[in-house]
Amino acid sequence: MGRKLIGNKTVDQWKKEFPVLRMASDLEQVFWINPRYKKDAGLSGWGVSPADMDDASDRLTRFAPFIAKAFSETAKDGGIIESPLRKIPKMLDFIKKESKVKIGGKLFLKCDSQLPISGSIKARGGIYEVLAHAEKLALEKGMLKETDSYDILLEDRFRDYFGTRELAVGSTGNLGLSIGIMGARLGFKTTVHMSADARQWKKDLLRSKGVAVVEYQADYSKAVEEGRKLAGPNCHFVDDENSKTLFLGYSVAALRLKKQLDEQGIPVDPDHPLFVYLPCGVGGGPGGVAYGIKRVFGAAAHCFFAEPTHAPCMLLGLVTGLQDKVSVGDFGIDNKTCADGLAVGRPSSFVGTVMDTLLSGECTVSDEQMYYLVYRLAELEDLWLEPSATAGFMGPTDLYGSKNGQAWLREQFGKSAGPGQATHLVWATGGGMVPPAEMQKYYRKGKDLAE
Ligand SMILES: *Cc1c(COP(=O)(O)O)cnc(C)c1O
Repeated sequence: MGRKLIGNKTVDQWKKEFPVLRMASDLEQVFWINPRYKKDAGLSGWGVSPADMDDASDRLTRFAPFIAKAFSETAKDGGIIESPLRKIPKMLDFIKKESKVKIGGKLFLKCDSQLPISGSIKARGGIYEVLAHAEKLALEKGMLKETDSYDILLEDRFRDYFGTRELAVGSTGNLGLSIGIMGARLGFKTTVHMSADARQWKKDLLRSKGVAVVEYQADYSKAVEEGRKLAGPNCHFVDDENSKTLFLGYSVAALRLKKQLDEQGIPVDPDHPLFVYLPCGVGGGPGGVAYGIKRVFGAAAHCFFAEPTHAPCMLLGLVTGLQDKVSVGDFGIDNKTCADGLAVGRPSSFVGTVMDTLLSGECTVSDEQMYYLVYRLAELEDLWLEPSATAGFMGPTDLYGSKNGQAWLREQFGKSAGPGQATHLVWATGGGMVPPAEMQKYYRKGKDLAE
């Protein structure tokens, strides 16, 4: 490992230049401030723009009548797939007491674990990409007009047509669930290429819906690579590493969040900043949401990514600037984590490039810490998340309790105590579909660690 060049440097040279890389290779929990963050960074370029985000939002509105009928649990919200925003004061008190860190402001949870249809953040981007593809095909075929009520997509003639077309995706599990469930509902021939870490219950669930599941003994990157190779000309391959469609589907979350904050009377402005903590795998989900948040709230919002200590791929890509030209394996990190969706060894270079000036920082979290947080959150707030979805909880203590966090607060807000009126928002990315027996195992592991 020592002599191999990563970019133009050896691993030892990288670690010497950036001590955070040495800590990350030692599997320490780190907190990193992005030196390239720009207050007024532009939002156009890279093939995405604010207008594209509005377009995605409009598309989801067009599909609402279809979604409301196809998935009855969404009918009460008129076919809009959205999750609650919840204040979690007991968890905040607990975190402050245990860490002895003075965190300013209030703590909220964005409960994407409760998103209808697939119970994770993938119900945003993944489902959106399937819908966008179906719309494009139906429009091209002259079967659909944008002014139609899209519930006609449930008619047999659409199912018959989509049945002649294929969809495929490579996944660690949750993206596969979203693509598979929506793809099958529309009638597409759908194949999910699952990495070795994918849970059995996810494969079983997909097969029960008529989705073909191909299993690999290798990690996520390999499953994607094989899936991409096998996709023929008749097949739409959902490319998690590069898809702008997925990214835009995720970004719409910020428009919805703005509405929820307004409804709850929570201001976001320079005196009331919004800090958002997002678990990151390949980057599309948190990247899309962060992009949307910067578009909606500008410099008043700060986004931080959270990754497992065993799979900090985005951190490596951003710190070295090498994006997808570096993998966790290059730094001797094993990419083995309990955090579903986050076991990714190589980040999306598209997302890393967009985030380069938009992201405020990153933290890494151990598996033990995630289990422990699952347990505490269930006990204190009766909220049930999968381990990966708790990764963002380290953000506030890292920010207010670390030397570099305090220095950053001083630089941004003029005082290391931070702004008095901050809103901290942990993005709870999944857990809603986890079978109760599996959830109990997560809970028990966390409880054992607490005792
Ligand atoms: C996929 C996923 C993420 C991260 O999304 P990426 O687009 O892979 O970065 C976070 N949490 C959960 C539960 C996920 O399934």
